[in-house]
This record gives sequence, structure tokens and C-alpha cells, in this order.
Amino acid sequence: MAEACHGLPLTPREVRKAFTPEDLEDWLNGSLPQDTLVTFSQALVQRRMMDEGKRPPSYTEPAICQNCGPIWLWFSGEVQGCPWCWNRIAHRPIPRPQPVCCGDCAHFQRIDHPHMGHCVQGEPEGIAGLWDTDRRHCERYLPRPETT
Ligand code: SF4
Ligand SMILES: [Zn+2]
Repeated sequence: MAEACHGLPLTPREVRKAFTPEDLEDWLNGSLPQDTLVTFSQALVQRRMMDEGKRPPSYTEPAICQNCGPIWLWFSGEVQGCPWCWNRIAHRPIPRPQPVCCGDCAHFQRIDHPHMGHCVQGEPEGIAGLWDTDRRHCERYLPRPETT
């Protein structure tokens, strides 16, 4: 176990805590392969980074998730769901590979003005509010659901 954590910001105790009862049983009876344990530990560190809104080093490509908007992944293209969906559901930040427009965001609340509105997430804005076409790197952006 200590070997699987070597070089990672992770303790054997934390790995053990993340085990399912089945993992624990396999580990206790010695049937959990070492390379599985290493992969598991690395995935744990990666998930922790992502929970903090940090991009894992292997996520080098800009992509689009239908639910999260512009995201970093290990491949480019469009996906219907992604690992950042966990952040979205838990209201955690999602780092963005490209700027977004408030006008396309589910958190943009328009006021009685053709272009202005406010951010219901409390992101910084000017006294008059936000301009819908201004582009910004926003970790709280979520694409507005498409209306049919
Ligand atoms: S969450 Fe970000 S993109 Fe969305 S309205 Fe607020 S500031 Fe704009
Ligand atoms: Zn997603």
C-alpha cells in the first residue's frame, strides 16, 4: 500500500478509506493486484484535484460537455457527460479552456435591458451588472438548457 502511494500526495490510510467493502476484502486476502492499487491511488489523487477545480496534468485537450460546457479532457470533441459532471452536480468549480459568455449561461438573470443582467452565483460584476456578450473565464458557468 505504501508503495502505491509513493510520490503521491496520499496516505495509505486515505486509500484504504476510499475502498469499497469488496476492494477491502480483496486487499485483505491479497487478491488486489499491485498495479490496480497504483491506478486506484492515482485516480484518487486526480479526483481530489478535480474536486478542488484543478485540471489534472493529463487533461490537455479542450472539449465540450453537453451539460458542463467547455471543459478540459484527455481528448478533444463533444461528449454528453464527462468527469467534470461530478463537479457540476456538487456545485464545484470547473476550469475552462476557453472564455464563455454570460448570455449563454444558466446563471445569467436578465434585467429590463437588451444586453444586461446579473449573475445569480454572485460572481464579480460591475455596478450595472454584466453584459451578455462579454467573454470571461468563469468556473461557475453552466450552459443554459436548450429550449425546444
Ligand atoms: S456564472 Fe459566470 S458565466 Fe454564468 S452568469 Fe455568472 S459570471 Fe456569467
Ligand atoms: Zn460534464
